Amino acid sequence: MTALTSLSIKEASEGLKKKQFSAKELVNASLTAVENAKHLNAFIVTTPEIALKQAAEADARIAKGEARLLDGIPIGVKDLFCTKGVLSSSCSKILKDFKPQYESTVTTNLFNTGGIMIGKTNMDEFAMGSANITSSYGNVINPWKSKNSTKDLVPGGSSGGSSAAVAARLVQAALGSDTGGSIRQPAAFTGTTGIKPSYGRCSRYGMIAFASSLDQAGPLARTVEDCALVLEAIAGFDAKDSTSLNAPVPQWAKNINPNLKGKKIGIPKEYMPDGLSAELKALWDKGTEWLKAAGAEIVPVSLPHTKYALATYYIVAPAEASSNLARFDGMRYGLRVTDGVKSLDDMYAKTRAEGFGAEVKRRILMGTYVLSAGYYDAYYKKAQRVRALISRDFEQAFEKVDALLTPTAPTPAFAIGEKMEDPLTMYLNDVFTVPASLAGVPAMAVPAGLSSDGLPLGLQIIGKLYDEQTVFDVSRAIELAANFTAKP
Ligand code: GLN
Repeated sequence: MTALTSLSIKEASEGLKKKQFSAKELVNASLTAVENAKHLNAFIVTTPEIALKQAAEADARIAKGEARLLDGIPIGVKDLFCTKGVLSSSCSKILKDFKPQYESTVTTNLFNTGGIMIGKTNMDEFAMGSANITSSYGNVINPWKSKNSTKDLVPGGSSGGSSAAVAARLVQAALGSDTGGSIRQPAAFTGTTGIKPSYGRCSRYGMIAFASSLDQAGPLARTVEDCALVLEAIAGFDAKDSTSLNAPVPQWAKNINPNLKGKKIGIPKEYMPDGLSAELKALWDKGTEWLKAAGAEIVPVSLPHTKYALATYYIVAPAEASSNLARFDGMRYGLRVTDGVKSLDDMYAKTRAEGFGAEVKRRILMGTYVLSAGYYDAYYKKAQRVRALISRDFEQAFEKVDALLTPTAPTPAFAIGEKMEDPLTMYLNDVFTVPASLAGVPAMAVPAGLSSDGLPLGLQIIGKLYDEQTVFDVSRAIELAANFTAKP
């Protein structure tokens, strides 16, 4: 049965249409796989009743020859998406037991195209982190192990439950969210594929907000084409999100073309910091050669403000987070601490002190500091200006090239417990992913090779605003050339 969960979406869809198996069998295989992989802690809750009901509906449509885009496909849903009547906590204690009255637009779209929710995946609390070690449900374990150590590794973050679930073949794909790298970095750490689409492609309605000007939903899957299929399913205009893009969703999957003749690919020199490991550099060079062989012209480019991106991100994102998280006060949602409470303010304070974890508190402190009257101009306003310069870097580069090739993360997956002495060490994980987030442009992670320890390494393809097609095309060329068949 578990072999069914190893199929790609494309293969599973074909098998369903040929009646080789039913959606019900596919869903049961997935539920069993999740049960057998409990030690990974990838799911915080499974939703078998919903999944089997959706499977029955999918089977009925398939029988009538009316299959929809994702009919019958098991998907993990990051716990940051509000799902009606199902725990939606962003893995925070402050939203413990919270069951929303409504469905997020992304999951609504997923269900309307036949996708099946297997359960909610674990994540860093409020999507803040790069290692899935800040969840109130505990750490997620990467299904990959280093050749040279028996230590448990992190699956990346914040969509670590989603990446682990896809890598361990528990589901065909999973939904993630990416504010500064939370789809791409976990994809790189687990040998999976993930795309952060252009800002505005997917509605943020019903996504528990972290940093609203950066948050984007997107898929993690095992192939480029599968990512394109899921993105087609979940993207689209939504009147309930004023920043959602009012444009039709292209048929990316059908149009993927790995022949890059006539395309120019930029190699940004700023993504080559002094400390970049030799094996990552070698992989990046290999990727460059692969794209050349696929017909592309390689062009060195410069994005001069890249070195400020991480600092800018860690001002903008916490500022927005501190504002977004103000709503969690013990009155409206989730946890309410009343023991020994002397006043309303006291209840707010005690609830927030108990409900938020250390990393979330750190972000709220940073955010309120940079937004405070005395420091607003020095930090927040300046960060906004630098953000504009970073966007301009991309605009100027994209006058010369169609896409950029870079590494996804500076290292392979590390052991649980590492990089924890100092939060700044952890923040460095995002050095290659935050610039595209600040500029709102689409970016995809594709597994491209293994480290000397036998761990996956990813390359990142960054595209022009709203040009996901080129991102998929270039990613597909990398996927074909890399032929990444290693499994955890
Ligand atoms: N790791 C980054 C952070 O901690 C990005 C998180 C994300 O993209 N949600 O903020």
